[in-house]
Amino acid sequence: MLEKYYVGIRPQTNGFHAVHEEGCPFLPETGKRIFLGRFQNPQDALKESRKHFKRSNICLFCSKEYLPQKNTQQEPVFEISENFISSSRLAVTWESALLCSVN
Ligand SMILES: [Zn+2]
Repeated sequence: MLEKYYVGIRPQTNGFHAVHEEGCPFLPETGKRIFLGRFQNPQDALKESRKHFKRSNICLFCSKEYLPQKNTQQEPVFEISENFISSSRLAVTWESALLCSVN
């Protein structure tokens, strides 16, 4: 099944741009993301994303890597990487994002 994928215009603290599946809670809002297209898996979306931003990676949430091994219900423990969370309050790399999108 094809899913829509987007890449965030603003890079994470590690300088990488996160690729998100539609519906991801960390998907940047319209205007702060680039629609990549519909893909069967995140890897294909990542390839497309690298045409925009050389340094792209798949969002941890979207890649499901954040999932804890045990699946306890009613206990939303998301082990999101620090990079991811701090990226929302990071403005330093904004300039580099602009540079990237201009090219
Ligand atoms: Zn995501």
